[in-house]
Amino acid sequence: QPQPAGKLFQFKLVLLGESAVGKSSLVLRFVKDQFDDYRESTIGAAFLTQTISLDDATTVKFEIWDTAGQERYKSLAPMYYRNANCAVVVYDITQSSSLDKAKSWVKELQRQADPNIVIALAGNKSDLSARRVIETEVAKEYAEEAGLLFFETSAKTAENVNELFTCIAKKMPLDM
Ligand code: GDP
Repeated sequence: QPQPAGKLFQFKLVLLGESAVGKSSLVLRFVKDQFDDYRESTIGAAFLTQTISLDDATTVKFEIWDTAGQERYKSLAPMYYRNANCAVVVYDITQSSSLDKAKSWVKELQRQADPNIVIALAGNKSDLSARRVIETEVAKEYAEEAGLLFFETSAKTAENVNELFTCIAKKMPLDM
């Protein structure tokens, strides 16, 4: 594997959100550029890495923690976000409950996680626009108020997936 030129910055990233919003699928798209309609749920916590070159001199490596069973094992979640540098909180544009759940994760992160954590809100399954129940503007306005990066993504079509992670990478402290 070729070594990246310039500086390598490594950050821990966690994914949070209601079950079945597509957290694992977003990771699979970002890391392997794959999508699976019938993938099995993650068991426990999956750990993957992916790098993004921002320019010739700067490479960002994400250590990605995708945790399953966040509903059942809610008490374990702080273990995952405690040392996280960034978080992607995911909802599904076709499930109104999932935005409420996302908001509660954001609140928890803003109270309990590292105060410098970079948080992105991702409205996933943008390919299912015929079944949309959460309007873009509503989520965008909330994200602005709460100080979050915001993207509507599709793990299925890959829309905005690289853009989401690249935007997070650019927000990270890269001047050490
Ligand atoms: P998780 O529980 O949040 O990790 O969700 P999964 O990644 O396991 O996805 C749940 C289901 O939604 C699976 O059947 C996926 O194939 C499907 N899914 C995930 N992302 C998308 C997407 O962007 N578009 C569509 N149409 N389906 C998706």
